[in-house]
Amino acid sequence: MSTAQLLKNRAEFEDKIRKLIGRPVLLIELDMFALPCGCSGITANTRGLEVDDLEVFEQQLLPRLKEMATNLDIKPSIIFARLVPGSSIVASLNWRTLCTRCYPEFARGEGKMPRPDLYLLQFERRK
Ligand SMILES: [Zn+2]
Repeated sequence: MSTAQLLKNRAEFEDKIRKLIGRPVLLIELDMFALPCGCSGITANTRGLEVDDLEVFEQQLLPRLKEMATNLDIKPSIIFARLVPGSSIVASLNWRTLCTRCYPEFARGEGKMPRPDLYLLQFERRK
């Protein structure tokens, strides 16, 4: 993947999410990451997105989130939003291929919000 692809996908995803939600949501930064533990993925830092938007538009949002992963050639085991603790503000959207060590951290707990700062959009639970 190239930075040109990142730039293109940042702009396109921002445009799609704005059209969907009908507000000027900003994707202020789109990053690709690799962690020492073995996790990897992409993070989109957002401004103007609320947890309510995720709840209301989840069904329309999911295909767009998956499309982003396909475009950037990543296979996330989890797609989640990170919230500003104690608020309804979405700080980032995250596509992450979990390592075996981090998997239990996300698998613990149930429902859409296993932790107050996490909102799960897609999660492939291992058997
Ligand atoms: Zn990890």
